[in-house]
Amino acid sequence: MAKEQDVRYLRLQFTDLLGVIKNVEVPISQLEKALDNRIMFDGSSIEGFVRIEESDMYLYPDLSTWLVFPWQSGGGSVARLICDIYLPDGSPFPGDPRGILKRALAHAERLGFTSMNVGSEPEFFLFKIDEAGNATTEVNDQGGYFDLAPVDLGENCRREIVLVLESLGFEIEASHHEVAPGQHEIDFRYTSALQAADQIMTFKLVVKTVARQFGLHATFMPKPLYGVNGSGMHCHQSLFIGSNNAFYDEVDELGLSQTARHYLAGILYHAKGFTAITNPIVNSYKRLVPGYEAPCYIAWSAKNRSPLVRIPAARGVSTRLELRSPDAATNPYLAIACMLRAGLDGIEQKRMLPLPVNRNIYVMNEMERVRSGILSLPSSLRDALDDLANDDVIRDTLGEHAYRHFYEAKMIEWDMFRTTVHPWEREQYLSLY
Ligand code: GLU
Ligand code: MG
Ligand code: MG
Repeated sequence: MAKEQDVRYLRLQFTDLLGVIKNVEVPISQLEKALDNRIMFDGSSIEGFVRIEESDMYLYPDLSTWLVFPWQSGGGSVARLICDIYLPDGSPFPGDPRGILKRALAHAERLGFTSMNVGSEPEFFLFKIDEAGNATTEVNDQGGYFDLAPVDLGENCRREIVLVLESLGFEIEASHHEVAPGQHEIDFRYTSALQAADQIMTFKLVVKTVARQFGLHATFMPKPLYGVNGSGMHCHQSLFIGSNNAFYDEVDELGLSQTARHYLAGILYHAKGFTAITNPIVNSYKRLVPGYEAPCYIAWSAKNRSPLVRIPAARGVSTRLELRSPDAATNPYLAIACMLRAGLDGIEQKRMLPLPVNRNIYVMNEMERVRSGILSLPSSLRDALDDLANDDVIRDTLGEHAYRHFYEAKMIEWDMFRTTVHPWEREQYLSLY
């Protein structure tokens, strides 16, 4: 295939702990060596991996992820393979996010589930780029939700993104303008958990690359603009036993199995604990505020769109729940692993599902919420890290290595933000005091 498609370079890709895509690029002459799992890299230069003295790591490509990028680069094509990370002794590196997801999937299998399906809905903004080539926060349209604007740059760009994704094997179900000016969403078909995480990484890379070709900057930053909607990445999820959806029960009044109810109860129970993973940056918490269609309270509903978890109307094999809190800054491998283990813990512990909240939670006052037993998601990265530290199931999902490195890196990030003097403070206080 490399020969047929005139591939000159091979990118060996993986994702660091903080969700950033990394690659080691080798000329195609190294293909044989790469396929023999003999390409090495220095793990100490990757955020959240290891210290200097234990830094040799090996890339084991997953051959099912072979893909030739549709753009040329320096004569000839570039292909990629997504890799698992191994230690020199031949054991999987315990801090590899893709390996962490595989561990969580093995846990599901031990409980009798053969697969987890995930469908994600990443939203993003397209911003103009200035003369120096830097991203601005200036949008190039004034469109709104599902608007059919006169064809503009943003829309052409979105169309090209869809075409490129399709050429790479994505099944695109819908693409539309989102609520905020400059904001877009492209939905692709659900797939099994590991492939879904791989696809999210590829999706972000394609969106950013194509946007650049249109002179635009695509960002998945959760809340780039104050006062308008932020960008989420809702995650639809279901468990399967063979070809049967374990969440469906045709005789139940809501069409939901006991398994689905326990899974959902587990998601709600661990929602505080996994928020640091699904919403991992300081800016994530600027999105999780009332008034912008993002969740802030821990509740579920089969009728209402506002809660943290929604049960879309489809039943039968399409029975699923939709978690609305994640944003696309998350490391999708870790996020899916944590959501899965949260749900499985609900099943293992037979956790009781609280009553659905079919009222609009956002018009309830605090007293009403407290009386209905509705808790809030953490409101800052700092609070989320405390909740993560207190959640043994989520910590166990990450494993000691990834947990420790993630927690330390995020504490530093939080401290930098906390001690920075922000423009808002000067605007408010400089002349007043
Ligand atoms: N942009 C909203 C969010 O922050 C979601 C809008 C929607 O329901 O698609 O999650
Ligand atoms: Mg949306
Ligand atoms: Mg949605």
